[in-house]
Amino acid sequence: MNEKRECKVIQDLLPNYIENLTSKETNNFIQEHLNECDECKKVLENMKKDLEVNTVKRDGREVKYIKKYNNRLKILRNILLIIVIVFILVIGRKMIILTSLSNKANNTLDKMNYYTKTETYSEGEMSILESYNKDGITYATMNMYSEEGSKKLTFYKSSEEIIALVDNGSTKSIINMGDIVINPISFTGNNLFENLFMAITTSVDKINLNGKECYLIREDNTEKFVDIKTGLAIKMIDNSNNRTVDYKYEFGIVNDSDVEKPDTTGYQNATSNDI
Ligand SMILES: [Zn+2]
Repeated sequence: MNEKRECKVIQDLLPNYIENLTSKETNNFIQEHLNECDECKKVLENMKKDLEVNTVKRDGREVKYIKKYNNRLKILRNILLIIVIVFILVIGRKMIILTSLSNKANNTLDKMNYYTKTETYSEGEMSILESYNKDGITYATMNMYSEEGSKKLTFYKSSEEIIALVDNGSTKSIINMGDIVINPISFTGNNLFENLFMAITTSVDKINLNGKECYLIREDNTEKFVDIKTGLAIKMIDNSNNRTVDYKYEFGIVNDSDVEKPDTTGYQNATSNDI
C-alpha cells in the first residue's frame, strides 16, 4: 500500500476509531500508522475537536430544554400549592367556626332546665311549638293553624308516663304517641367529620340578624342562622319549600308549675286516625 492510499483508508476509519467501534487489530494498525504520519494525526485531532464542540453544543441545548421544563414544573407546582393552601385556609376557617358553634351548643344541651319555642311558617300553614323542660320532665304544646282550622296538641312526658292530647276544636282526644325529645336545635355537626363535610359543602358568613350577631350557614336553597353566643339555631329559611322557622331558647327559667301534668278532663281515648 502506498502512503497516500493508506492515509485514505486510515482517515476513513478514524470516525469509528474515535467512537471505539474498531477492532483491536484495526486499532493497532491505525496507531502504527499515526506514529509515523503527522497528516493523519492532525486529521484525528481535528476530528476529536469537532466532536467535543458538537457534544458541548448538544449538551447546551439539553440543559436549556431541561431548565425550561423544570421551570414549567415549578410554576405548575406553585399553582397547585397555592390552590391547596387556599383550600386549607377556606375550609380551615369554616371548620374552626363550625366546631366552636357545636361545642357551645353541646354545652347548652347538657342543661336540665330550658324553654324552647319554634314557630314554623309555610304556605297556608303556621305552627307554634312551645316546650318546658325541667329535670327530665317535658311539657309541650303545639298550636297548628291552617285553612282547615286550628288544632292544639298537648304533650307531657315524665319518667313514668307519656300523655298526648289533641283538641281540634270539635273533638278532644287522648292519643297514643311515642317518645318525643324536644332539644334546642344546633345546625352544626356532631363530630369532626360532619363539620368537615359541612365546611366543604356550605358557605359560612358572619352576619347580623335583628341586632343579633350570628353565622349564616348556606347550603343549596336553605339558609340557617346560628347564634354566635350559644351555637343554637335562630332561624331557618327553606326557599325550596317556602318555609320559615324561628327558634327561641331560654335557660333556667322553667318552674315546677310549667311542667305539671295536664288536665285530661273531657278528653276521650282515640286512635291517631281521629286527630
Ligand atoms: Zn497518513
